[in-house]
Amino acid sequence: AKGNGRDTVRFFDPVMQAAVDERMALEKALRQALQGGELSLYYQPQVDRAGHCIGAEALLRWHRPKHGSIAPSAFIPVAEETGLILPIGRWVLEAACAQLKAWAGDPETRDLQLAVNVSARQFYQPDFVAEVQAILANSGANPTRLKLELTESIVLEQTEIVIERMQALRALGVSFSMDDFGTGYSSLSYLKRLPLEQLKIDKSFVQDISTDPNDAAIVQAILAMSHSLGLMVIAEGVETPEQQAFLLAHGCDAFQGYLFGRPVAIENWITTHDT
Ligand code: C2E
Ligand code: CA
Ligand code: CA
Ligand code: CA
Repeated sequence: AKGNGRDTVRFFDPVMQAAVDERMALEKALRQALQGGELSLYYQPQVDRAGHCIGAEALLRWHRPKHGSIAPSAFIPVAEETGLILPIGRWVLEAACAQLKAWAGDPETRDLQLAVNVSARQFYQPDFVAEVQAILANSGANPTRLKLELTESIVLEQTEIVIERMQALRALGVSFSMDDFGTGYSSLSYLKRLPLEQLKIDKSFVQDISTDPNDAAIVQAILAMSHSLGLMVIAEGVETPEQQAFLLAHGCDAFQGYLFGRPVAIENWITTHDT
């Protein structure tokens, strides 16, 4: 029994070796992807209670020649482990800010807010605030249109540093949303200490909202608590009118999901969302 654990870790395991090889190949390909322009941003609309588009979430896509499209869940973990998330994250911020600048030139789109996902490793770089500031300045984007989505794993790690950085970015006009809310440690005490504008209910709760009383109760509680703390709430993964109706009835402020639009390349954004 005791020896079994050791026996399974062999010096050379062909299955493990294949996994290691595949990962290294993926890392190499990802490094080239960044330089070769294979990465792009897709934009998914966010709407208010009246159904008007108020902004978008920028979602990373990797179109790999001869392999097709690769889901973020397949390459973002690799990017995080290898540190490639740093240049990739910078590229995402630059592309997002360039898009904000382009939107600013059109009265139809100039008020849109763009939400950008930030990974823990990216946020904890010592010069993250300076980097965001430089990207905003170089792009000419309005900082008040940029919203950074942070996860619970980021804010629970080193709360003091996190608050300091968030405040520095807030001073520039940038706002913050707490992503995937409810899936992490669910310690609510830290919420009121963070300079957050918005909280995003994870799609795993939204999915069964109309059938699972527990999920319905959790979502109701999140909405009530957030509003008493003065936070806006957006629900992600809204796919059905029933889910939207439940969320509307309980005061949810904004919505994102296939019901309103899938993530699309920017050239498809104009036709689907111009009013
Ligand atoms: P996330 O931040 O929670 O993003 C929401 C995910 O839900 C996206 O998956 C989106 O396409 C998907 N989604 C949107 N509406 C619906 C819906 O109605 N139903 C369902 N079932 N799904 C919906 P996606 O684009 O595959 O991204 C997966 C994750 O990858 C993101 O989860 C985020 O954690 C990460 N990610 C994406 N882009 C970036 C990025 O630029 N930087 C970093 N660090 N992470 C990113
Ligand atoms: Ca997100
Ligand atoms: Ca999520
Ligand atoms: Ca996520």
